Amino acid sequence: MISDLKKSLLETFPDLEIKEQEPMSKHTTFRVGGPAELYITPKANQIADIVKRCQQFEMPFLIIGNGSNLLVGDLGIKGVVIEIGKNAGEIEIEQTTVKANAGAMLSVIAKEAAEHSLTGLEFASGIPGCLGGAIVMNAGAYGGEMKQVVKKVTLLTKQGELLEKTGDEMEFSYRNSIVSKKEYIVLSVEMELQKGNKDEIIACMKDLNNRRREKQPLEYPSAGSTFKRPEGYFAGKLIQDSGLSGYQVGGAKVSEKHCGFVINAGGATAADIKKLMEDVGAIVKEKYGVTLEPEVKMVGQF
Ligand SMILES: Cc1cc2nc3c(=O)[nH]c(=O)nc-3n(C[C@H](O)[C@H](O)[C@H](O)COP(=O)(O)OP(=O)(O)OC[C@H]3O[C@@H](n4cnc5c(N)ncnc54)[C@H](O)[C@@H]3O)c2cc1C
Repeated sequence: MISDLKKSLLETFPDLEIKEQEPMSKHTTFRVGGPAELYITPKANQIADIVKRCQQFEMPFLIIGNGSNLLVGDLGIKGVVIEIGKNAGEIEIEQTTVKANAGAMLSVIAKEAAEHSLTGLEFASGIPGCLGGAIVMNAGAYGGEMKQVVKKVTLLTKQGELLEKTGDEMEFSYRNSIVSKKEYIVLSVEMELQKGNKDEIIACMKDLNNRRREKQPLEYPSAGSTFKRPEGYFAGKLIQDSGLSGYQVGGAKVSEKHCGFVINAGGATAADIKKLMEDVGAIVKEKYGVTLEPEVKMVGQF
């Protein structure tokens, strides 16, 4: 029972941030999603115990970071959501090595690296996710991806075993890594950067972020690119060429600024977004014979 699990967790960790029936719309950049039965925001050193406790109570759990690549169903999430985010984001820099817990925001890590005149993470400074989510997705932009900087990752298995993997062992590929395949939990990451010129690093980050603001509908809630890039094509261009710019289902809309983004134009439900994605996928398939695979992860009950 959820209430027994909550009681047991609070006995061990009296200061644990834990909420019942927490709306996931508060924790996703799409700003949609029904309630999580239990929503926990642990500190880094509490994660392994909490995972074990969920197993003991046979309670399903979902790990999230900043919720910037998630579409959570309107009926919410059965069981526990563990946010490896704001309470688990310590960053340490030693010479050219950046060590950070999985909850650290990419923007914050990139800024800290710049402060230490370290180059290599400029590409990540405008990606609105946590480090853990970025490892799962091998997040990337403007020619950079996490694969290029990751030296070592500390992982937890669902059974509570700690593992260390080198960057090469992470099986990074386009918006994917070994993490989802094996259902690992990312705890911390060691990244190797290079010494650079602080002013140039900051100027590069500003330039990339200006380019984002110009091209992307950042004024609306979204989860970034909705679909993966199909080989040989661009999802946004296929969608635009299919005449779907501005296509709307309820409050969900194909952005007119960038057709690769589905936005919450106001009052969208997860069902609206899901239906719009299905429609777009079907129309592009019919017109161009190309299958669009969602980049956004759908979780919970729709
Ligand atoms: C405006 C906007 C722009 C974006 N631009 C880009 C871009 O340029 N490039 C890009 O790659 N992405 C982009 N994204 C998508 C998103 O920010 C990235 O995929 C990001 O890496 C997701 O991180 P997150 O912490 O938000 O993960 P979440 O959305 O919380 O989770 C994503 C997945 O990772 C899992 N997960 C999260 N943390 C952990 C963990 N610690 N251990 C195990 N599993 C975990 C979740 O279960 C889920 O399956 C953009 C999104 C938005 C809203």
